[in-house]
Amino acid sequence: MNTLVLNASYEPLAVVSVRRAIILILTEKAVVEHADTEKLIRSATRELPTPLVVRLLRFVRVPYRRKVPWSRGGVLERDARRCAYCAGRANSIDHIVPTSRGGAQRSWLNTVAACVSCNQRKADRTPSEAGMSLLIEPFEPKAHRALVLALGVTVAAELPDWLIASTA
Ligand SMILES: [Zn+2]
Repeated sequence: MNTLVLNASYEPLAVVSVRRAIILILTEKAVVEHADTEKLIRSATRELPTPLVVRLLRFVRVPYRRKVPWSRGGVLERDARRCAYCAGRANSIDHIVPTSRGGAQRSWLNTVAACVSCNQRKADRTPSEAGMSLLIEPFEPKAHRALVLALGVTVAAELPDWLIASTA
């Protein structure tokens, strides 16, 4: 059974499992707008009517554009400000294939967060030339990340098909 999730602005946002909806309610991220009072769901400590429609308390901005524009700040955020070479605190961007060697300059796939010392050590070389290896695989962020964060949904199957189709 599923529950419809509305944005704070009452626009339909997603369909999640009843279990996920209850977690949103119990963690005070959402309120019940409509419930089936004849079907009770028991948790360890209480009984709840089955939520059919819940509404998020905080507005979620869902970017519908397919491609997230590249930015230095975006790369740092994507990599959680950890250096891709040593996992230390990163405050710079490394071009995996240096731009001086033909690497793309504004590409999610050619850039990673890096600390200053790794960045200087690597200099104008590729990771293999510098004898350094990437701890992470760079990826292009997907627009549905905002919704994933807001709903705590980690399994893609829990996201509605139309959303995956529009952002993938
Ligand atoms: Zn480093």
